Amino acid sequence: MGVIVQKYGGSSVADVEKIQRVAERVAASRAKGSQVCVVVSAMGDTTDELLALAQKVSAGNPHRRELDMLLTAGERISMALLGMALHARGVEAVSFTGSQSGIITDGAHTNARILEVRPVRIHEALEKGKVVIVAGYQGVSREKEITTLGRGGSDTTAVALAAALDADVCEICSDVDGVYTADPRIVSGTRRLAELSHEEMQELALAGAKVLNAQAVEFARDRGITIHARSTFVSGPGTLIKKSEGRELRISGVALDSEILVVRGAPLEVLQKHGAWPREAWDDRAIVSLENVHGLAALLADLRGYEVSNDLAQVSVVGAGIGASKEPLDRALEALEIQPRSTLVAPLRIAFLVPRDAARDCVRRLHAEFIERS
Ligand code: ADP
Ligand code: ASP
Ligand code: MG
Repeated sequence: MGVIVQKYGGSSVADVEKIQRVAERVAASRAKGSQVCVVVSAMGDTTDELLALAQKVSAGNPHRRELDMLLTAGERISMALLGMALHARGVEAVSFTGSQSGIITDGAHTNARILEVRPVRIHEALEKGKVVIVAGYQGVSREKEITTLGRGGSDTTAVALAAALDADVCEICSDVDGVYTADPRIVSGTRRLAELSHEEMQELALAGAKVLNAQAVEFARDRGITIHARSTFVSGPGTLIKKSEGRELRISGVALDSEILVVRGAPLEVLQKHGAWPREAWDDRAIVSLENVHGLAALLADLRGYEVSNDLAQVSVVGAGIGASKEPLDRALEALEIQPRSTLVAPLRIAFLVPRDAARDCVRRLHAEFIERS
């Protein structure tokens, strides 16, 4: 019997009524005969609310081990409630934390990486015909400390489990019915992509498209796993993220990352101490993602003496072959209408640093040029 992994994001389990609908969807998959392993995120904005509490009790710089203890509680609430909802429907189910699921990570609190998965208890429960529900976004280090995988990390849990369980299907179910050419919340004329390669999706995610977590896509690429991104509540084809089939220039989409710091020459240890990691280097400056930094003032204090810009955002156009000729760059520079602070050309992406308050307009202009006009 094949295994299917389904991940439900925060908006899909935001309230009791939605948890009931997810339970129905899970029960229907089980009834078709598959072994079902479900990964859940925390309900709605729970993670943000827990983070706000942590900020309040810690003068804006929460202790990162304790923060992980707090944040992992969000996913435990959803897993237990979904378990109860399934039992109430007569479906045998059991929920496990990341640690109980055998998800072993390094020790980098708030931004840990999965090292291996030993899903012994999951296998046992699936063999008994139970639906297994796993709390996303979390694991345990070799030192037996509880860790979280960085924001959006439930996607990574799902892909890692799909690999470890040799699943036939890895569905990432969300409030959006697939991957679009830009964030539909920012741009009005977006189109759903029927499929794209792991490399293209990874580039979009790294460029800030939070519809899928970049580490999750990297994992899927390395393990050859096809991800099916789709809507939880509306049936439809969604988007398939799969092994690339060589193509000529094709634009996947436009992405925005506003949560960045641009730093010149900062030591890695200082960044890492605060949950930050330089995502890439432009000339001698590092673009540092602030997504998993929960004590910005403390980080900025430690970076005193270095050149730091905290008012820039990164806008990117992603596509296979986009960096191979000068023409896309010229088109982008003309479309932007402002002079970017910096420009990066990579094989799958051209990107610009622009003032943060102009960034959303830049995304719309690039989308109009590269997607709507072609
Ligand atoms: P979940 O809680 O299900 O994990 P997320 O909020 O993490 O969902 O991701 C879904 C959101 O990602 C969408 O609501 C959308 O606003 C945003 N998003 C950003 N870029 C894109 C894109 N290119 N395509 C689709 N959605 C995108
Ligand atoms: N709940 C976590 C977050 O909000 C993990 C996830 O949703 O994937 O980032
Ligand atoms: Mg997400």
